[in-house]
Amino acid sequence: MTLVMTDEQQSFVEAMRDFAARECGTREQREELTEKFTEQHNQDLYRRFAELGWVGVAIPEEYGGGGGGVVDLCLLLEESTRGLMPIAGMSVSLIVAGAYERFGTEEQKADMLGAINRGDVMAIAMSEPESGSDVGSLRCKARRDNGSYVISGHKTWISAAQHAERILLIARTDDSGAKHEGISMIEVPADAEGITIRGIDTMGGREVNDVFFDDVVVPAENLVGVEGGGWMQLMAGLNVERLIIAANMVGLAQRAFDDTLAYVKERKQFGRPIGSFQALRHRIADLGTELECARLITYDTAEKVDAAPDALFPREASMAKLKATEVAKQVTLEGMQMMGGYGYASEYDMEGYVRTALVSTIYGGTNEIQREIVSKTYGL
Ligand SMILES: Cc1cc2nc3c(=O)[nH]c(=O)nc-3n(C[C@H](O)[C@H](O)[C@H](O)COP(=O)(O)OP(=O)(O)OC[C@H]3O[C@@H](n4cnc5c(N)ncnc54)[C@H](O)[C@@H]3O)c2cc1C
Repeated sequence: MTLVMTDEQQSFVEAMRDFAARECGTREQREELTEKFTEQHNQDLYRRFAELGWVGVAIPEEYGGGGGGVVDLCLLLEESTRGLMPIAGMSVSLIVAGAYERFGTEEQKADMLGAINRGDVMAIAMSEPESGSDVGSLRCKARRDNGSYVISGHKTWISAAQHAERILLIARTDDSGAKHEGISMIEVPADAEGITIRGIDTMGGREVNDVFFDDVVVPAENLVGVEGGGWMQLMAGLNVERLIIAANMVGLAQRAFDDTLAYVKERKQFGRPIGSFQALRHRIADLGTELECARLITYDTAEKVDAAPDALFPREASMAKLKATEVAKQVTLEGMQMMGGYGYASEYDMEGYVRTALVSTIYGGTNEIQREIVSKTYGL
C-alpha cells in the first residue's frame, strides 16, 4: 500500500485546508458558526462547502458527483475534521449516499445523490432504546397498507436529524421470521406528519436526537432496495461506514497532535520549552507513531475497498475503526495532559477534541463489537 496522493488529491486537500483557514480558522469564527460551540453543524457553511463539489467527491459522475473512490472520501473526511469545520451532518449523509448507490433505483439515486451532492443533510435511523449493539432486535414497525407504509416506533441517538431533509429508516416490515429477516430500508421525509424530533443533551452539545414515528404514512415506493433485505443491505455498507468514522478520527487525532506539538514547543517551565523534557518528547514520538499506524490502516483498507468494491473486508474495516478511534482518544487525552490546566480549559480547543474522541468508540458499532467482529474473522 502506498498512500502517495495524486496531484489532484493533493490539490483537493490543499483547497479544503484553505477553505477551513478562511472560514473557520479562528476560535471566534467557530464560536459564531456553532452557536457558542453547542452545535456541530452549520448549514450555510455546509451548503457552500458542497457547492465546491467536495461533498460529492466520491459520488458517481452520472449523479453529479466527482466520481472518486473511498480513498478520496477518506481525504474529504480527514481534512474537514482536521480543519474543525462544523459540518457534522456530512458523515451521516455520506453513509446514506452509500446505501442508495448500492441499492437505490435509478430514480432514487438521481434524486438522493443529487440532493446530498448539493448539501442537503440526511440522517440514518437504526438504533432504538432497546436495540443498540443488537441492531437486529429493532422493533420500529412499517406496516404495508395498500400503496403505503405506516410507520410507528421510536428511534434514538439519531445524528443530525435536526438538520436532515430526509431520514433513511431501518424498520421491521415483517416479524414472522428470524430477527435478521423482515428488516427494510425506507426513506421518510424528516417533516412528515407524525414525526417528532427531540434533541438529546450530551457532553458533545446538540448532536443526536430521539425520533418518534406516530403512524407516519409514506408511499411504498420509498422502499430502498428489497423488502425484507435490509439486514443484508446494512451489512454491505458497514465497511465504508467504518472507514468514514476512521478517517474522521484520523483527522481529529492529527489536529490534536498538531495543537499539542505547537503548545509544547511554545510553553516554557523551568526556563525551557516543556517539549524539551524527555517525558513529553517521547510521548510525542509515541503519539506520532500511533497516528501514522491509524492513518495507514485506514487508507490501506480504503484502497482495498476501491480495488474490490463488492467485497466486505469486515476484519480490515473493523480494525480501522477500532484503531483510529482508540488513537484519537489517546492523542486527545494525552494532549490535554501535556497542556496542563490549559488543556482542560474551555478557552482552548483540546477539551472539545477529548469529548469528540470519547464517543467515537461508542457509535458506529462500539469498539467491543469491532473486537468481536475481528476475533470472529480469526475463527473464534
Ligand atoms: C453520538 C452518537 C451518535 C449516534 N448516531 C447514530 C445514528 O446516526 N443512527 C443510529 O441509528 N444510531 C446512532 N447511534 C447509536 C449507536 O450506534 C449506539 O449507541 C451503539 O451501537 C451502542 O448501542 P447502545 O448505546 O444501546 O449500547 P449497548 O448496545 O447497550 O452497549 C452497552 C455496552 O455493552 C457492550 N456490549 C453490548 N453487546 C456486547 C457484546 N455482544 N459483546 C461485548 N460487549 C457488548 C457495548 O460495547 C457497550 O460497552 C449514535 C450514538 C451516539 C452516542
